[in-house]
Amino acid sequence: MENTDKTAWETLRHQLRNLEGGSYREYKGIKGDYAFPDFTLSVDYVQGDPFAAPSRIRIHLPQSVAQFPSQWITDYVCQCAIADYLTRQVARVAKKLAQKRGSGKSGKIEIAVPSQAILRRSALWIDKSGVEVRLTVGLPAFGRRIAGKAAAALLCEDIPALVAHSLRYEAIDSDALEQHVHTLEDAEALRNQLEENGLIAFIAANACLPRRSGVDERPLETNAAAFIPPSQDITELETPHSGRVEGLGIRAGVTLIVGGGYHGKSTLLRAIEQGIYNHVPGDGRQQVVTNATTVKLRAEDGRSVSGVDISPVINHLPQGRSSQNFSTANASGSTSQAAGLIEAVEAGAKVLLIDEDTAATNLMIRDRNMQALIAKEKEPITPFIDKVRQLYSDHGISTVLVMGGSGDYFEVADHVIALDNYIAHAVTAQAKAIAADYPCDRNAEGGQHFGTLTQRHLQLPSFDTGRKPAKVKTQSLTTLAIGQADIDLRGIEQLVEANQVRAIAHAILTWQQQNRSHPLQNLLDDIMSWINRRDFDALTPYPMADLSEFRRHELAAVINRLRSLRIIADK
Ligand code: ADP
Ligand code: MG
Repeated sequence: MENTDKTAWETLRHQLRNLEGGSYREYKGIKGDYAFPDFTLSVDYVQGDPFAAPSRIRIHLPQSVAQFPSQWITDYVCQCAIADYLTRQVARVAKKLAQKRGSGKSGKIEIAVPSQAILRRSALWIDKSGVEVRLTVGLPAFGRRIAGKAAAALLCEDIPALVAHSLRYEAIDSDALEQHVHTLEDAEALRNQLEENGLIAFIAANACLPRRSGVDERPLETNAAAFIPPSQDITELETPHSGRVEGLGIRAGVTLIVGGGYHGKSTLLRAIEQGIYNHVPGDGRQQVVTNATTVKLRAEDGRSVSGVDISPVINHLPQGRSSQNFSTANASGSTSQAAGLIEAVEAGAKVLLIDEDTAATNLMIRDRNMQALIAKEKEPITPFIDKVRQLYSDHGISTVLVMGGSGDYFEVADHVIALDNYIAHAVTAQAKAIAADYPCDRNAEGGQHFGTLTQRHLQLPSFDTGRKPAKVKTQSLTTLAIGQADIDLRGIEQLVEANQVRAIAHAILTWQQQNRSHPLQNLLDDIMSWINRRDFDALTPYPMADLSEFRRHELAAVINRLRSLRIIADK
């Protein structure tokens, strides 16, 4: 090949075979770039022992070999779809090829595992120059001695086989690839039509909303009832590849989802919440799309809150505590949800989702009898029922609420959707008639307006311990550790991949080095414009294989949960 810095692959094979029986650390010598007949293999990092984090390799395959049709790799959305498809194909082929080749992680070949969402990831990218894929491999050992012949087979036979079966256009199922691209393009088209149609979400007829389990995001297979939109109120949107699509369009304003327990309310809301992402073919939610700035709120007692002005919803706290500059290391259900609401609005959310299952009841409702018993002066909380309309009229922020337990909301809702045996019905008129016949006789609380929204100025905490840069650790979607700091992620429900969390953590570490304060919005804008330039590598000291794209809302949510966040008072 053209590049003289690269060593011929036969040299690598020879070198590996000669290492047979050597001490594991001698593997370090194979770091470098190797020219194979069809691709370049870069060994970027060599693990210290067979049980440690596996070694990292990169493969670059030029388009002259990969041969993807050129009209497919000129458009960013299309490239994302192809890259996502190839990532899944690499994962499938790697699983078949990988074999136990000794102790510890010996013989493993892995690519970062994607969720059901089609996302831009650092593990694989395709452009006009070619395909680059990043993998981890377990360099083989017997005990702690090098298994050189097995290593030669892994890098010089398995890897070329992986390339041949997963990265060349001729080797992959072009119909499946095309379906992947079309699915993504259709979803994008649907989401792009929401605003002009006054909608904040769209759920196509026949979508499959339920998931296999609380810990398995794949579609429910047995007895899943396909989604049926309200027959009286069908919305039609256009797609480039599937023509006109019918479904339930959720309009801007205040929407209630009601219905008996276990009739699918939370499942519908969860699908709406996940409609910020595009989903793979077969997921069931390919044509469930939501306004891209939608944020799910919930009560999250125990979380930390830093300097949030929650006064629009909570005021006159006991002991004279400030609600304009509310900080706590241990929020209650209602204060955590109030802070989450204000923080979401601060980060630019135009749609909020709340499920009664995970909401603080006292933040949501305060009925006539309670108003009679506990005077307004004794209750710091203005219930959301008195704020939800103002949020829309003052700030254009829509809310979708699952509310099976309180009909008080009928008065303030624009639209009411009932679920009956998983089937959706439009019941706004009935709900309004009931509200007129049986007024709930509450006194509206909290004034005519939502209240002031303040912008915080903040400084990211320093995570470094001594001279060492902080380490990022995240296994699942429950916790993130940056250096010594642990961040609880369980309240951030719209994260779908641990690799999004890792990317957020690296973004925070990169910006923390600036060591200065920023208005939060500017900080979010800065980081997002960086991410939108698709420059993951600039976030980390070396090219990483396990980063996935994220939204400003999840970035803000992580920053807001840093326990040592410093809020700078207005100057
Ligand atoms: P609710 O919030 O109304 O109490 P959920 O949304 O939690 O109800 O749903 C109750 C159960 O029904 C869950 O186990 C869910 O997976 C299942 N489910 C929801 N929608 C469907 C559907 N369309 N087909 C089959 N099962 C469903
Ligand atoms: Mg529920």
